[in-house]
Amino acid sequence: MKAMLLDRISAVEEKPLELVELPTPTPKRNQILIKVSTCGICHTELDEIEGRVSPSRLPMILGHEIVGRVESLGQGASKFKEGDRVGIAWINWACGRCAFCLKGEENLCDAAKWTGKDADGGYAQYTVVSEEFAYPIPESFSDLKAAPLLCAGVVGYRALRLSGIEDGGVLGLYGFGASAHIIIQVAKYKYPHGRVFVFTRPKQKEHQNLARKLGADWVGATDDTPPEKLNCAIDFTPVGEPVRQALRNLQKGGRVVINSIRKTTPIPELDYTEHLWYEKELKSVANVTRRDAQEFLPLAAEIPIVPETREYKLEEANEALILLKEGRMHGAGILKMAE
Ligand SMILES: [Zn+2]
Ligand SMILES: [Zn+2]
Repeated sequence: MKAMLLDRISAVEEKPLELVELPTPTPKRNQILIKVSTCGICHTELDEIEGRVSPSRLPMILGHEIVGRVESLGQGASKFKEGDRVGIAWINWACGRCAFCLKGEENLCDAAKWTGKDADGGYAQYTVVSEEFAYPIPESFSDLKAAPLLCAGVVGYRALRLSGIEDGGVLGLYGFGASAHIIIQVAKYKYPHGRVFVFTRPKQKEHQNLARKLGADWVGATDDTPPEKLNCAIDFTPVGEPVRQALRNLQKGGRVVINSIRKTTPIPELDYTEHLWYEKELKSVANVTRRDAQEFLPLAAEIPIVPETREYKLEEANEALILLKEGRMHGAGILKMAE
């Protein structure tokens, strides 16, 4: 099979992913072999390539927003049949026995494995996964449109849930890339009486226009002061400064959720009175559980979510990742495998 392989940590501008020919993997017990059709490009791949979240071994095949069809079943696998369309998300495996797993918090499991970090992912024509960690894809989505739902959508959904949002409240979204442009659609559907304010880098006119098109009630730059205080905010950006801005604009008792696996710059010093006093809260969102995916995918079909996607060939992964790093990716970038 063809794969874009990472074998060293480096700046993404050096285009470290290499197109290689590898043996097609064989599904082990309870695993399924999937013929990959599309794989979304996530900001986490930049963190992996540049060493902020290093893969547990190298070389590694990145990619954790995978859509494809079941090609064959490993011994004991019975949940799907050959030809079924399935998706794989960031959570690749969890122990099922630790205190976190038993509480339904498998996203915090110490032994958990992450797709494209601890197990080969979807920047390839084939991949394997335990059948318990694959999800049916709602029929209404094409392979292209389903891919960004699996991380940008699922993690964003978890962040929205953790934000404590209630209908009628004001939600702030910092950054308007793959995840935020899906989550604004969820927020508008589930909380029709609320308002959504979107903050982007000052020059991201395309992101701002997309936000307006998707129903944002106000759009501004990261350091702007919005017309009303925010009851909750989700920070989707890879940098530190928006955290402080979001806390500054927060209503008393409000909460800021950081939807980012790593920050490339530090969160600046906080002033207790201005940023935290009056019971303001700051929380991170770490990974996802299977439940997040199982709840979100049918909801996405019901709304229905319309993801904005840009299609790339497998061998164009380096170039697409550079665009993402520069903030020039409009919507979600998706790798489409050749037949
Ligand atoms: Zn991701
Ligand atoms: Zn566990």
